[in-house]
Amino acid sequence: MNNSFQEKYSRQILFAGIGPQGQEKIHASRAAIVGCGAVGAAAANLLVRAGVGYLRVIDRDFVEPSNLQRQTLFDEADATQALPKAIAAERKLRSINSSVSVEGIVADLNPRNAEELLGGVHLLLDGSDNFETRLLLNDFAVKSGKPWIYAAGVASYGVTMTIRPGITPCLACLLETGNAGLGLEETCDTVGVLGPVVNLVASLEAAEALKLLAGREDALHGRLISCDVWSGHMQSVRPARNPVCRACARHEFTYLEGESQPHITMCGRDSVQIHERSRAIDLAALKARLAPVAAEVRQNDFLLRFRIAPYDMTVFADGRAIFKGTKDPSVARSLYARYIGA
Ligand SMILES: [Zn+2]
Repeated sequence: MNNSFQEKYSRQILFAGIGPQGQEKIHASRAAIVGCGAVGAAAANLLVRAGVGYLRVIDRDFVEPSNLQRQTLFDEADATQALPKAIAAERKLRSINSSVSVEGIVADLNPRNAEELLGGVHLLLDGSDNFETRLLLNDFAVKSGKPWIYAAGVASYGVTMTIRPGITPCLACLLETGNAGLGLEETCDTVGVLGPVVNLVASLEAAEALKLLAGREDALHGRLISCDVWSGHMQSVRPARNPVCRACARHEFTYLEGESQPHITMCGRDSVQIHERSRAIDLAALKARLAPVAAEVRQNDFLLRFRIAPYDMTVFADGRAIFKGTKDPSVARSLYARYIGA
């Protein structure tokens, strides 16, 4: 351990739960975060500062002004440029700690790319905004025997649990057996979300990540923790595994094996995403084609945005598109065919 390493992490090394050996293990570890919104950004920030060796940040979305109230890695310049969150996060995280290898990937996790996006790491962290993605993450983690940490926040309420396949309950144990009280019906779209709760949940998630990466599994709390920063109500329960769980008992990985959903309604706004197949799009050529018919046509290296009232459309370089102004997949599909091409 050289002096600058020792100095950089001195307060963490002084902490008895980690110590020099724990810090070395953290430095040798690899993790991936699925989704870099509020929870993902806050957890990524903490893990990069803590000195993980490698962090992969996967996100499908771009930065907008309404994100800045709670998504602590991004600033106004990121929103003005409509940078993909994975790219903006990678830049910011590298400037925070240059000794961490940070890789931002602009992509939507689905069954076809799960192995590529989630493989080769010791730990997976949830920063996603929907249960389709979380159950896919859970299927992958259970199948590959890899730990992952569930974390979600909406309104003033948050919930988190560390999932160790074969040891703790998995997400399917919790969700597919009629457990109530997880606040699953609500989204940021309908009830909003407070910055403090997502940062609280991300902090709990990052602390569990440090225990796992430092080799301190004995210190994991083993509980489903829920907290409400408005009412002050905190709860911690120890749920049981479901002995007939689809995922962790019967090994039926329906989310991983199933056909990916071609359209997904996103959290936080009136939008539909289309991602039917991966194909490279020439954004400059598309920009030239759209200029006569669309308004506010803007392009950066990663995406092209344009407006045809009442819709705002964003096309990514891999052929994926987000349509704002509708919740109807068939409207989005027809806009895609008309303006981007079949
Ligand atoms: Zn299970």
